[in-house]
Amino acid sequence: MTEAKRPSGARGTARQATKRPHPANNTEPRALPRKTLPIAEPKDVRRATTRLIRADAKAFTAVLALNSLAALAGLASPWLVGRIIDEVRAGTDVTTVDKLALAILIAATAQLLLARWARYIGHRFGERTLARVREDFVDRTLALPANVVERAGAGDLTARGTADVALVGTTLRDVGPELLISAVQAVFLLAAVVTLNPLLGLCGILGFGGIWWALRWYLRRARDGYLAEGAATSEVAEILAATASGARTVEALRLEERRVSASRDALETSRRTRLHTLFLRSVFFPVVDVSYLFPVATVLLLGGVLLEQGAMTLGSVVAAALYLQRLSEPLDEILMRVEQLQSSGASFARVEGLAQAPQTRETDSPAPADDRIDVTGVRYAYDRGGEVLSDVDLTVRPGERLAVVGPSGAGKTTLSRLLAGVDAPTAGSVTVGGVPVVALGPEQLRRQVVLVTQEHHVFLGTVRDNLRIAAPSATDDDLWAALAAVGADTWVRRLPDGLDTALGDGGGSTDGSQAQQLALARVVLADPHTLILDEATALLDPTTARHTERALAAVLDGRTVIAIAHRLHTASDADRVAVMENGRLTELGTHDELVAADGAYAALWRSWHGERPGAPA
Ligand code: ADP
Repeated sequence: MTEAKRPSGARGTARQATKRPHPANNTEPRALPRKTLPIAEPKDVRRATTRLIRADAKAFTAVLALNSLAALAGLASPWLVGRIIDEVRAGTDVTTVDKLALAILIAATAQLLLARWARYIGHRFGERTLARVREDFVDRTLALPANVVERAGAGDLTARGTADVALVGTTLRDVGPELLISAVQAVFLLAAVVTLNPLLGLCGILGFGGIWWALRWYLRRARDGYLAEGAATSEVAEILAATASGARTVEALRLEERRVSASRDALETSRRTRLHTLFLRSVFFPVVDVSYLFPVATVLLLGGVLLEQGAMTLGSVVAAALYLQRLSEPLDEILMRVEQLQSSGASFARVEGLAQAPQTRETDSPAPADDRIDVTGVRYAYDRGGEVLSDVDLTVRPGERLAVVGPSGAGKTTLSRLLAGVDAPTAGSVTVGGVPVVALGPEQLRRQVVLVTQEHHVFLGTVRDNLRIAAPSATDDDLWAALAAVGADTWVRRLPDGLDTALGDGGGSTDGSQAQQLALARVVLADPHTLILDEATALLDPTTARHTERALAAVLDGRTVIAIAHRLHTASDADRVAVMENGRLTELGTHDELVAADGAYAALWRSWHGERPGAPA
């Protein structure tokens, strides 16, 4: 017997089901925006589930076996009660009754212990499997190309990694095992009735068939019904909020009538959708309620007839009725859990969806022939908005220092993202040594081109972990050399555990310039031949900026440097200057050439000088 959790059977479910947010509200609408992360199809979810069960098949089998034994032990008491009735009618003595009663006690204890054991193993299975889901999720997330994450939005990924994974966890830990226990119990109880008398068994199966039918009927309509209800509720809220916040405009333009009628329409739609879901519930739950009682009532009636004819003993009829009555417990549990299973199925589909997201490019892309970077006929448009780069052609020679200048919004940052392989051009190509940068695997790309911005991050882990991200096989000597190159070895040596000191949340804290030095040490370790600097040192305080510049000088030594220059003095130091305006490359040449040409760059240079009297000519 399971521990009774709710006082009444079907009514408990009805109450819970009406209060719980319906799973359909959690599922994705079908028309997905263009760039959201994919969602797995039901068949993929089933395949993933099978894979998870296979991965821990032993524990799963143990859970099934123990649950079956527990359910078997649970069958003993109704049968023994029937035996007691028959014995008493036959005029037996007290000792026999006592023995049977003792057997009931033993069976109940055995069931309790077996069920506990099964639950324990079930939960361990759930936790291990959840760990697997989490690890897969992290692996897949890390394999996503940066532009896919950017387009989908970090919110979606975070929601999948937190709320959805948590819901899948609950299913694996609680819903799944409970569903399994209940299913096993239900099958065994029905089998017991069939064994007692096939005719009675048939009545039971037919009665509960009603529940099956009602459940299918309900689930088939519930998803759309609750989706429509959710959408209608949002619509009402949206219209009310818009009217309230734009009240002045509404009054000024005399739109009151129109707003009122829009609200009325939305409310009417909302009312209709609510009535529809109420109708669904008002069919489903009464059918379930009646279906619980129906088999018990039929068995008692039919059992009476069979008893009259001497086909069954009174004890057997009572046992059959007890079995059927007891069936309501696991069935109730199944009904409730199936609903939860639906909503976590939707979550699992979102978690598994990542498997279908484009992965970072293959690692076996061809090796670049040399260090030359070619930008040929590049056009680029973000998902929203028009073209921000048009017909950009540019060749960067190995070892060259190129400054990219231009007014804000000209497309400099966009160009730097294409050069670094963060994004692919809409048309044209960006190649390094003849190979498109977007085709390079992360390992290869890291050795070719690295984008250095002012966004740096200290990862949770030791100093060593933080550095090895860039070069997984680096020795401690390599790490110290890299730290020394950016002037960070002194403070790292002073840390309590040196390279083993924990950093990030909960670990030792690093200040802005230390975090920056670690980021630059990573660049030294990655050792790319080309660096793209989205220079924003202007945003830093002078001390940090000085530290950074010193560290940068070490990193830049002997490399090709493409600097997105927000300040012109960087440009005058460069070998060549590229001027961008409105997404086009309008001028390209040395500083002196461009000043002599008296174009846009010369104008910028003059105005910069004008603003800075005394600046070197
Ligand atoms: P710059 O670095 O020269 O200031 P950007 O490359 O940042 O220029 O921007 C070029 C144009 O692209 C601008 O018009 C900007 O509004 C637009 N843009 C930049 N980022 C995005 C984005 N994520 N989505 C849509 N448009 C963008």
